[in-house]
Amino acid sequence: MNYTHSGKLPLSPYSMFSVLPERGRDGEDYPSLAQFRLIGTAVIGEDLVGIRGGNGLSDGYNPFDLYGRAERARGKPLPPHLVFAELDERNPSDACAFLNAYGPLEGTSNYRLLSLDELRQWKKTASRSPVPEVYFGSLLGEVPLLPDLPSPQDDHYEYSLRQFWRAQGDFEFSLRLHAALVARRDRLQKLKQVLATKETKCDFRGPNQERQYVNWAREFVMTTMNANLSTLQPRVARVPNTGAVTGVWGCYTLLEAMYLMLFLDIAGWTGRITQCEKCCLLFYTTLDRGNYCSPVCENRARALRAYHNRKGES
Ligand SMILES: [Zn+2]
Repeated sequence: MNYTHSGKLPLSPYSMFSVLPERGRDGEDYPSLAQFRLIGTAVIGEDLVGIRGGNGLSDGYNPFDLYGRAERARGKPLPPHLVFAELDERNPSDACAFLNAYGPLEGTSNYRLLSLDELRQWKKTASRSPVPEVYFGSLLGEVPLLPDLPSPQDDHYEYSLRQFWRAQGDFEFSLRLHAALVARRDRLQKLKQVLATKETKCDFRGPNQERQYVNWAREFVMTTMNANLSTLQPRVARVPNTGAVTGVWGCYTLLEAMYLMLFLDIAGWTGRITQCEKCCLLFYTTLDRGNYCSPVCENRARALRAYHNRKGES
């Protein structure tokens, strides 16, 4: 990725959005890229801990450049928010791999001073920390869109493991509910399938049940998304060392950035996010009948249908 000395290239249409440093006491924005990858993320106690990865020229990257590069078709590398929604809570390595790929969900200014003991522990585990290219390549069947390879800096950053999964759970739930709401067919069945993965007290019956499920899901998506979009607004900010001002439209955390990506998916184009009917993998499609993530899943589903048809005949 190329940055000019002002740190404002490269421009995808989405580069007007970025992750900025949290606003200081003066309430002003600072126009620089605050999001960075972590290296060697490992679980230390109840926290995810890794060291900051810089990328040489400029310390940060813009997650929206990755979002802008994502192609809206199946079998293409996924942008960060769809990778986030694919993580599995039962597996702490998923969280480590995600932080190694995209950095802390929140708190890019919260570094942590490790005790000697913790440092020893971190060094031991960090060497086995998942490499995102390899890890996600096998988890998703495709290496997702990633920022440039970072080089290790000195400071450690932490993020609570429990907080990570709470944030991931709400995000994944919103995204999959949204995908079910815009599904072209079997909407009720798809909503129930997404709800079944969560312990929700959602059990509507009777002739109005589809409407009740839809209302419930829509309410959840709206409440969760809007809460995470509430701090984002276009602003002008001082350009360092000049008398000028510039426009910024920043998020203050990667988590907010991913909600904004989902917002852009919902608001901005004609395709949709969908969940594979065979393996539940998320992908983009512009097709009316885009039901499977890959020819493999399509063939497996077809073979299964053929089998059941034959069984029905005999
Ligand atoms: Zn599939």
